[in-house]
Amino acid sequence: MGETHYARRRRLAALVADRGAAALLVTRLVNVRYLTGLDSSRAALLVPADGPAVLATDGRYAGMAAQVCPELPVVVDRQVAEALVRRAGEDGHGRIGFEAHDLTVEHHTALLGVALPGHAAELVPLGHLVEELRMVKDEEEIGLLREACAVTDRAFEAVLPEIRAGVTERAVAIALERAMVDQGAEGPAFDSIIASGPNGAVPHHHPGGRELQRGDLVTMDFGALYGGYHADMTRTVAIGEPAAWQRDVYDLVHRAQAAALAAALPGADTKDVDAAARDVIAEAGHGEAFTHGLGHGVGLEIHEAPLMGYDKTGKLMDRVPITAEPGVYLTGRGGVRIEDTLVVRAGGPELLTTTTKDLLVL
Ligand code: ZN
Ligand code: ZN
Repeated sequence: MGETHYARRRRLAALVADRGAAALLVTRLVNVRYLTGLDSSRAALLVPADGPAVLATDGRYAGMAAQVCPELPVVVDRQVAEALVRRAGEDGHGRIGFEAHDLTVEHHTALLGVALPGHAAELVPLGHLVEELRMVKDEEEIGLLREACAVTDRAFEAVLPEIRAGVTERAVAIALERAMVDQGAEGPAFDSIIASGPNGAVPHHHPGGRELQRGDLVTMDFGALYGGYHADMTRTVAIGEPAAWQRDVYDLVHRAQAAALAAALPGADTKDVDAAARDVIAEAGHGEAFTHGLGHGVGLEIHEAPLMGYDKTGKLMDRVPITAEPGVYLTGRGGVRIEDTLVVRAGGPELLTTTTKDLLVL
């Protein structure tokens, strides 16, 4: 992994130079992890436009840092950002970019107060540079995501016999999360959503004590965390033979999702991919019932760039993993959502979650 992280830092250094900064102070922990491999609760990284990067972390992680990224000089200090700003001053860097979306106003003020004898270092806010880099994944990352999704598929299959009338939403959530760990996950990638019957009308319903009943549609949104990468899948199943309206809504969402998958090609506008699904749902008269965006990027975070919605701009690129998750939510009746994690590829999307999308009647 050392070379991979080095290559990522070199790409970032080029972006830093483009923005006219001498260095970027990376304080978002997930970004530090992406650039070094160090997974910690306190670290920061100084990436100069020119020259080697410097990592700072506290005593708890010093040993791990030496192991994970032996090529990096490590400053051991509890005040990681302050230590790196001081270091940047000593190294003569003038304009130091910082991650304005991460640093609090209070922390920024503290950094301005770092004494830099003989140097007039300037802190300049820089945008989501590392997040931009993270959007296109290397094959190593896609491999981890592929395994996260495979674990998710296997866990779903293992739990299917337990999804039946009389079982609570919470029990299904726990069974899925346990099955994911049994199948090799580090844990769930996010809080599982299990929404049964009328609760299915709430896209982010928190699983509660409601028992599944015959005649319910049950929406299950869950995923495994593997190697730091987040899988995300939603399937909606029927408990007992579904009513005609339930089948109709299911088929509609299924067709909408297929349309989005077909549109998810390199160069496609994210809002056009959203529209591919949204138009199918709107034409059936349920446009108002699809109340969220089509999907989002996934990787070291469960929600990351690109965000896919009718109000979002941006273009898809080769090797960008995203989700496609249209839904129809009918207040008081229930809902359907179908979601896959996929990788945008030149020849068409590579589906990473492969559980069937035929309506399962349990
Ligand atoms: Zn999801
Ligand atoms: Zn999602």
